[in-house]
Amino acid sequence: DLVVVGSANADLVIGVERRPAPGETVLGSDLAVHPGGKGANQSLAAARLGARTALLARVGDDGHGRLLLETQRAAGVDTDGVLVGGAPTGVALITVDPSGDNSIVVSPGANGRLTPEDVRASAPLLAAARVVSVQLEIPLETLAETVRGRGPDTRLVLNPSPPAPLPDEVLAACDPLVVNEHEARFLLGEGAGAAPADWAHALLARGPRSVVITLGAEGALVADGRTGSLDHLVSPKVHAVDTTGAGDAFTAALAWRLGRGDGLRAAAAYAVRVGAAAVMARGAQESFPTPAEVDAL
Ligand code: ADP
Repeated sequence: DLVVVGSANADLVIGVERRPAPGETVLGSDLAVHPGGKGANQSLAAARLGARTALLARVGDDGHGRLLLETQRAAGVDTDGVLVGGAPTGVALITVDPSGDNSIVVSPGANGRLTPEDVRASAPLLAAARVVSVQLEIPLETLAETVRGRGPDTRLVLNPSPPAPLPDEVLAACDPLVVNEHEARFLLGEGAGAAPADWAHALLARGPRSVVITLGAEGALVADGRTGSLDHLVSPKVHAVDTTGAGDAFTAALAWRLGRGDGLRAAAAYAVRVGAAAVMARGAQESFPTPAEVDAL
C-alpha cells in the first residue's frame, strides 16, 4: 500500500567529552551502530504500525547494508526494491557531547547512486502504490522520476529534508508537502512571515494540493488547498527523551493513513500521536511505536 523511495544509512555514534580541534585526537565512548536514513526510518515506522510497506533504496554490498536489510525485513518491510552495490552504504558519523548536541558528517554513498533508471526498474511497484513517500536524501532527478512514474491514483507525500529548492513539477504533485519549521523557512526564504499559518498559506501558493507543518511539541498544522481548511492538531503531552526520527515517524504514519483512505485531518491527527510516541524513547528506529503504544497515548 505504501512505497517509500529514499535513503538508508548506518548511523555511527560516539559520545565525546568535547569535539577535537583541527589536528587533534580525542577519545570517545564505544561505537554504537544504528540503522537510519529517512527512507529506511519511514518504511520501518510504517511497517511497525501495521502498514504493508515496500522500500525502494540503494545500499552498499557491505555490513552496514546487510544490517539495514535485516532490520527492514525483521519489521516486515518488502525489500525487493532495495538495490545492493555501486558504492558503500550511506553513513552518518555522529558525535554527541555531554549536553546532547550532535555534530554530524553524512557520506551519502549508495544513496547518491539511486538513479532514475533504478526507479524505472520498479515501475510496477510504484504504479500499484496507494501512496509514495519521498524525501531529499536521494538525487533530485531520482525524486523527479518517482513523481513522474507514480500511478494515476497514487498519492505523493514529500518531506523535503534536507531542504533544497524544488522544481514546480514536484511541488505541484505533493499531497501533502510535509515540512518542519526549519524546512518551511528554507523553502519560503526571506518573505516567510511570522506565524505558521502564514507559512501554510505561502507554501500552498507554491503549488502543492495540501501542506502539513510539524511544530514539535505543539503538534502540526494542516492546510488543505481543496477545501481551504486550516487545522491545528495538538500533540499529546509527553515526556520527551529524544526527538530523533520524530518527523520520520510522523510522515510515515500520515502517508499510511492517507493510503488507507483517511482524510488529511484524520491522518494527521493519528500522525501527531505517532510522533509524540516516538519522542518518548531513545534513538530513531528503536523509538518507533507499535499501534498499542499509540493507542495508549
Ligand atoms: P522534525 O523531527 O522533523 O524536526 P518535529 O520536531 O516537528 O519534526 O516533530 C514531528 C512530530 O513529532 C510533531 O508533529 C509531534 O507530533 C511529534 N513531536 C515532536 N516533538 C515532540 C514533543 N516534545 N512532544 C510531543 N510530540 C512531539
